[in-house]
Parts: sequence; C-alpha cells; structure tokens
Amino acid sequence: MGHASQPIYCDHQATTPLAPEVLEAMLPYFGEQFGNPSSQTHVYGWTAAAAVETAREAIATAINAEPTELVFTSGATEANNLAIKGVAEAYLQQGRHLVTVASEHRAALDPVQYLGQLGFEVTILPVQPNGLLNLETLAESLRSDTILVSVMAANNEIGVLQPIADIGQLLRDKASAIGHKPLFHTDAAQALGKIPLDVEALGVDLMSITAHKIYGPKGVGALYVRRRDPRVKLAPQLHGGGQERDRRSGTLNPPLIVGFAKAVELALAQMAAEQERLRQLRDRLWEILSTLDNITLNGALEPRLADNLNASFAGVNSSALLLGVREVVALSSGSACSSARSAPSHVLTALGRSPELARASLRFGLGRGTTPAEIEQIGNCVVDTVRSLRQANPTALSSKA
Ligand SMILES: *Cc1c(COP(=O)(O)O)cnc(C)c1O
Repeated sequence: MGHASQPIYCDHQATTPLAPEVLEAMLPYFGEQFGNPSSQTHVYGWTAAAAVETAREAIATAINAEPTELVFTSGATEANNLAIKGVAEAYLQQGRHLVTVASEHRAALDPVQYLGQLGFEVTILPVQPNGLLNLETLAESLRSDTILVSVMAANNEIGVLQPIADIGQLLRDKASAIGHKPLFHTDAAQALGKIPLDVEALGVDLMSITAHKIYGPKGVGALYVRRRDPRVKLAPQLHGGGQERDRRSGTLNPPLIVGFAKAVELALAQMAAEQERLRQLRDRLWEILSTLDNITLNGALEPRLADNLNASFAGVNSSALLLGVREVVALSSGSACSSARSAPSHVLTALGRSPELARASLRFGLGRGTTPAEIEQIGNCVVDTVRSLRQANPTALSSKA
C-alpha cells in the first residue's frame, strides 16, 4: 500500500482494499450483464443467475457446505441478525434462552440484547483475561431452554481465535443432559480466508461471512444455514419476493456476489503462505513495540489471527496517539464502529482492562499489501510518538498505569 501522500494502511480488520482481480471479475456484471437473476424468461436473467450460482457453489465449497445452505446478505451484520433473530423467532416454542460472549462484535451482541428486551433470556458469558472463552463456563450456562449459542471465530479487535470446534463438540456432548442440542452460530467475518473453515469439522449450524474483510467488495456477505443434522429453521427477517429460498427477500446483487467468490478463491489459494508471511511481520512489529516500557498486549498471542496486534500504551491516550501518527500510518483504536463512539472498547474491558488502559490502546491490522519496510516505519513511528507523548505528560503514566 501507500501512495506518496497517503499514510500506510494498517487497519485491515476494519476493511481491506479491493483486489484488482476481484474488480475485474465484477466489471461485466456492472455493465452489459445487468440482468436480474430472478428473471426466468430471458437470457439476461439466465446469465445473471448462472453467475450467482457459480459463485454460490465456489463459496459453499470453500467452507465445505452445500450451495443451498448459503443465503446471500449485505454482509456479516445482516448475516448475524438473520441468524440470531431468525433462529430466536423460529424456535420460540422450544425455548427462549440465548447465549453469547462479552467480546463479540456489536453485530452479534446487539441483536441478542435486543431480543433480551423483547422477552428472551440472555446470558452474556465473560472471557478470560487472554480473551478466550472458558468451555466450563459455557457448559454451565446451558439449559433445557437454550436454543442458540453464538460465539465468534476470530475477534475483530484482538484477533484471538475461539475454540469453535471444541464448542461444537461440547454442544453435541451436552445434548443428552439438557434434552437437545442448542444451535451453534459463529460470526466468522474475520476468520474466512485466514484460517481453515469447515462447517462439518467445526460442528457449526450457522456461520456469518463477509467479502470486504478479504479484499472483496463491501456490501455483500452470506449466512451458512445447515440443512441436514439438524435442518435449521430460520424465520426470514426480510419479506418480499421470496429470493434465497424464502430466507432473504430482495434482488440479488450479481457483481458483488461474483466479487465475493473471487475474493474467497484468491484468499484460499494463498492462505498458508500469506498467513506465515503476516505472522513474521506481526511478530517483528511486536518486537519493535516491545522496546517501550509499560505496554500490554491485549489478547493471547496464540491462538490468534496472524495479521493482528492490539496493545495498550499506559499513560497515552489513543486519540492523541492516533493524531501523532496519522501522517505516517492509518490505525485505529479498536473496531471501526466503536471508534465512532467515545466509550472504551467493550472487548478490552471484557479482558479486564481498566477504562483508562482501554482508552490507551491501538489495533494494528496487517494485510496483503504490508511490507517489511512498512513494519519498520509503523513500529518506529508509534514508538517515537508514545515516547514523546509520555515525555510531555509524565504524570499520566504513574497515575494511569
Ligand atoms: C466486519 C465484521 C462484522 C460486520 O461485517 P459487515 O459485512 O461490515 O456488516 C461483523 N463481525 C465481525 C467479527 C467483523 O469483523
């Protein structure tokens, strides 16, 4: 990355630039191939439908699902909402207890909390100081009326990987004790294309994914919905033309869907090598940052996404820090959504960080364009800025550390 006048982009957990191959794959469908895939009476519709179905098959195969198990959405936010509200509504008679985790993305936490206001019973599980969910804590929360457990695969702020396969197994193991197996949803927006995702091996019933975190276009994602063992019922949240087998009405967007499939294909083709490259860059960045005193890594270094670091710089406010580095590097203090709010990150406070330390944190999101030279620049710039801010206000460190 890096235009002469643009800072280095280091916020790849917020979004990623479009891969040139993805743009190229999408262009015909923005142009002459403009048909509505639901039009069954002419070649415009057939061409669009064929492109959508080829893309659906490619994305389904990438997660070891059947094409009919994918519902295209506008992104992971909508997929999470459809999974959580759609299951809650469809299984109302079986139970009203929902379980999720304090460090989830707002797009999972907020739908669950909304359902809590409507009369569902909600358990928000704590995480351990390293960001990981304790499986015993989860096991203890399960009840005979638990219908859904939602746990993200990879955290968007601190990168930690929750033990999804173990949770899937635990829910199966607990089925006889509580009388049924609660459905298991995972928000895999940050995991897709970075770690292997196999819905069978993971034992998930619903999984949210999105294109724009993997160099695809913004505004498209999908929800995987298991159709066998068990066949998941889902109450649609958008009613209308009955697209997506009545699970999500609205005209499909062929260019974005084609771009999504291309992005998945590219990410999987380079996954192992690229993750190893990013891990080395990330570890080098941590080495540079670690020359500072009083810094804390947020979240376990293992198991964690290879492209993420999140650290607290005691005594330094993250907004001052961001201001100090912004000509050199584009960073954020946490999720793009919560940086618009002034509250400290709910993920960092869930780890037990004080609000002050949570407000003294930066997220580093490396990506496909990040080079070793950029890592040196980013690291040195942050180290210098932290040092000068601490020098300017030395009492902050002793009072806030
Ligand atoms: C980005 C992200 C979302 C939201 O996805 P959109 O496609 O932008 O709606 C949800 N969950 C996680 C973990 C994310 O990183």
